[in-house]
Amino acid sequence: MKYDLTIIGGGVVGCAIAREASKYKLKTLLIEKEPDVCEGISKANSGVLHAGFNIRPGSLKARFNVEGLKICTSIAEELDVDYKICGKLVVGKSDEDLPYLTKLMEQGKRNGCSGLSIVGKDEIQRYEPGVSAKWALLSESTGIITPFQFTIALAENAAENGTEFHLNTEVTGIESLRGGGFRLTNSDKRSIDTEFLVNSAGMKSADIKSLIEEHNNVVYPCRGEYYITDKENASLSMPVYPIPPTDGSGLGVHITPSCNGNILLGPSADYLDDGEDVSNTADVMAQLKKEAYELMPELKGHSFIKNYSGMRPKLFAKDSGESFADFIVEESERFPGMINLMGIESPGLTSAPAIAKYVIEELIGSHTYLYENHAYNPQRKGIIRSSKLSDVDFKRLAALNPDYSEIICRCEQISRAEIIQAIRNPLGARSLGAIKKRSYSMMGRCQSGFCLPRIIDLIVEETGLSAEEIVKSSTDSQVLFGRIK
Ligand SMILES: Cc1cc2nc3c(=O)[nH]c(=O)nc-3n(C[C@H](O)[C@H](O)[C@H](O)COP(=O)(O)OP(=O)(O)OC[C@H]3O[C@@H](n4cnc5c(N)ncnc54)[C@H](O)[C@@H]3O)c2cc1C
Repeated sequence: MKYDLTIIGGGVVGCAIAREASKYKLKTLLIEKEPDVCEGISKANSGVLHAGFNIRPGSLKARFNVEGLKICTSIAEELDVDYKICGKLVVGKSDEDLPYLTKLMEQGKRNGCSGLSIVGKDEIQRYEPGVSAKWALLSESTGIITPFQFTIALAENAAENGTEFHLNTEVTGIESLRGGGFRLTNSDKRSIDTEFLVNSAGMKSADIKSLIEEHNNVVYPCRGEYYITDKENASLSMPVYPIPPTDGSGLGVHITPSCNGNILLGPSADYLDDGEDVSNTADVMAQLKKEAYELMPELKGHSFIKNYSGMRPKLFAKDSGESFADFIVEESERFPGMINLMGIESPGLTSAPAIAKYVIEELIGSHTYLYENHAYNPQRKGIIRSSKLSDVDFKRLAALNPDYSEIICRCEQISRAEIIQAIRNPLGARSLGAIKKRSYSMMGRCQSGFCLPRIIDLIVEETGLSAEEIVKSSTDSQVLFGRIK
């Protein structure tokens, strides 16, 4: 099969590129090795729409972050994705921190960030009564978004506009074709020819580049672990960050409200050899609590319902002496038409729509005229969360479809109707993770203890899969192995 454009990787960046490409008459394919999009870095982060004041001026990171924030909010509106421009505080404990906070503010202004000011103790208390600090940089334009909802919405909208998705398909080989373009070999044995190729494989982007050329790029995995609080006792209106560490490993352990009402604590920053090791460790979890309690002492009374880890694709090693590396978004010199994206760490979520515009309009657009797709529809409707409706609206909806009255996930109050819509998603993703990310079921206090068997029954009923074929999230995460009676 011959495509104009093939994208390797269904993270937020690949999916944003797919949606951007679908605005034009390009026959586009996205290949993802996992059973759903958003199973890599994009599913495990802080979900902050960064303003861009932490970043070195003049860099691609600064450009894409500031541009990306502006586009993210309008895309979130078009795609019916939860987000909130809630502001953010970077807090300092003493007068000694004031020069650093002022420097951050000046850097932000140079990057084009708006709504930055230094605030004192009283104002901090007004914004976040539970936070103890002497000074803070207030960023009014920072926001939060649900990262998996955003990524899925980008993908589903691209699919509705004609992009093909091959899930469960790993790219294993790339060769350049004599007349131009590339031939990909995949784990499903289908061979794909494509004129343009985008490598947005996250942690694996250097490996993908190695499939076609020798290079010196190395991606160093740096794990960030998180805790999630029970939303019953969460009360935080904006992310609160400490003064960041100077080694460039990350932004420090912060506390962040999620759009779903929980508080996230984290992330840590530990360089590892294994980029797939997203486990959580007891020492780090204890350290997260300690650092988060320093920012907000009242968190001590909160209970935690889950932990998770994300992996940063760093472009410098732990003891390299470096503290900054820019995003790599460039066309291969040796193989024109192949675009490699590497080191897309934070603020990659915020930057994704701006990166996508650059890749399509400037890089691919420099080779070929981009004809507009007149049928392109930027709108997409998400799944209605019936528990958020007023009584009147809920009754109206339940009268139309009685499945809204049957609650399957008790913790998050998710109905049978919502789970069925999640199962019938346009990408055909059927893992438990796919249903969880789309419906918010299994995300509450019991973490699927009650609803899992019923959700498995619904997947079996809707798709004809056997229960043993259903995976948790990755291809090798089988959940059930046979009947015991
Ligand atoms: C701890 C942490 C916190 C962060 N916090 C924020 C934040 O608050 N705000 C922000 O803006 N950014 C944040 N980021 C950064 C952001 O999450 C990433 O920049 C972004 O998600 C990267 O997306 P991606 O599409 O490049 O990678 P991914 O999401 O990893 O997507 C790459 C995809 O490629 C697939 N793939 C790999 N190899 C193959 C193959 N051979 N064939 C087919 N598919 C393949 C993978 O399965 C994966 O799904 C954070 C990152 C981390 C780690």
